[in-house]
Amino acid sequence: MSLFDKFQPIVDIRSDLQALGIMPFGAVTEKILSSTEAIVNGHQVILAGTNNYLGLTFDPECIAAAKQAIEDFGTGTTGSRMANGTFADHIRLEQELASYFERKYAIVFSTGYAATMGMGSTLAGPGDVIVLDADSHASIYDGVRLSGADIIRFRHNDAADLDKRLRRLGDRISNTLIIVEGIYSMMGDQAPLADIAEVKRKYGGMLLVDEAHSLGMLGEHGRGVAEAAGVEDDVDFVVGTFSKSLSAIGGYCVSNHAELEAVRFAIRSYIFTASPSPSVIASTRVALRLMQERPELRERLWENAHRLYDGLQQLGLQVSPQVSPVIAVTIKERNQAIDWWNQLMQRGAYVNLVMPPASPTDDSLLRCSVSAAHSPEQIDRIVEAFAAVKNSSN
Ligand code: PMP
Repeated sequence: MSLFDKFQPIVDIRSDLQALGIMPFGAVTEKILSSTEAIVNGHQVILAGTNNYLGLTFDPECIAAAKQAIEDFGTGTTGSRMANGTFADHIRLEQELASYFERKYAIVFSTGYAATMGMGSTLAGPGDVIVLDADSHASIYDGVRLSGADIIRFRHNDAADLDKRLRRLGDRISNTLIIVEGIYSMMGDQAPLADIAEVKRKYGGMLLVDEAHSLGMLGEHGRGVAEAAGVEDDVDFVVGTFSKSLSAIGGYCVSNHAELEAVRFAIRSYIFTASPSPSVIASTRVALRLMQERPELRERLWENAHRLYDGLQQLGLQVSPQVSPVIAVTIKERNQAIDWWNQLMQRGAYVNLVMPPASPTDDSLLRCSVSAAHSPEQIDRIVEAFAAVKNSSN
C-alpha cells in the first residue's frame, strides 16, 4: 500500500491514451493565430472549447492597457492584497465592478476559483448550513467542504427540491447560505433563478450566485442570469471570474452587505495569495468597459450560439437541453468520446473532452463553446467537422 496507489486508475487511462498517441488533457497550444484559431498538438484548429465568450483576448485596447501597466508597474505585485499587493488599480477595478453591478461593495481576487472557493468557505462555518445545487462547480464544492458547515445538496435546477430542503431546516434557515450558478459550465443550462429567489423569499437565508459563465451574456446590462430573471435584489452575493467574458484571469465578489468588507479580513484565498498582476487588472478594466460599450458583442455571441446549436441538433446529436454559448454533445461511451475528440482535432475543431467525474452524469461530453469572435463560416466548419466524424463512425 503506498500513497500513490490511488492514482493508478489515472495512470492507466493516461498510458492507454499515450499508446494511442492522443493527448486530450493538457493539449498543448503551440501557437495562437487569433482569438478563434490556434495550432494545438500540431493541428491548426478553430478554438471551440475556450471560454473567450466575447472574443476580447486580442482586443487592441486591452492589449495596449496591459502593456502600459507592465511599463508603469512591472510584471507582478509580488505580494498579497493585505501586504504590498494592493495597487491603486485594484481599488479602481473594485469600484468599477461595484458600479457596474449597482452594488455597494466589491472584492477582487486572483482567480475565479479563489473568489468562489473563498466565499463558500468563509461566509458559512461550523454550525451554519449550506444548501447547494448538486451540479455545482468544483470550486464551490471545495469551498463548502472547507467551511465546516453542514452541507445539503438539492437536485440540479429543481426549485421544488430546494423548497423541501429549506422547509426542513426550521429555525436553522437564519444561518443558511444557498449557492447556485447562473449558467452551468458543463451543459450550459441556466438556473431557474426566479423560482429559486421565490423560495428564498419564502423561507429566508442568504443567496450566493456564481455567474462565472453568464457575465456579459444575459440581462439588459449583461450582469447575468440574476439580471435577466429580474431578481438581483434577492441575490446577496454575486461571484464571478475575469477568465471568461473578460478574457484575462482573476475573480470578484460584489454585494450590498457592508459585511463584505469584514469578509475581506477573514477570507484566506484573498489574504494568503499574491494579488493579480498589474497587466491583468489593466486589461480587465478595459474589457469591463468594452463589454458595456459594445452590446453587439453579446448579440453576435448569441447568433453564433444558435447557429452551432441548430447545426449540431440537425446532425441528430444529443445536445444540451438549452441554447447557450456552452453547448455539450453527450457521447455515452468514454472511448467513443475520446475517439471523436481526436478526430475533431484532426479535422480542425478543438472542443473540450469531459469525462466523469467532471461531467455531471455518467456520460462523457464534447463540450463546445462559442465566441463573439467566431465568424459564421467558422461555426459552419465546426458543424462540418462533427458531421464528418459522425459519418465516419456510422
Ligand atoms: N466557477 C465556475 C462555475 C467555473 O466554471 C469556474 C471555471 N471554469 C470557476 C468558478 C473558476 O474560475 P477561474 O477558472 O477563473 O479560476
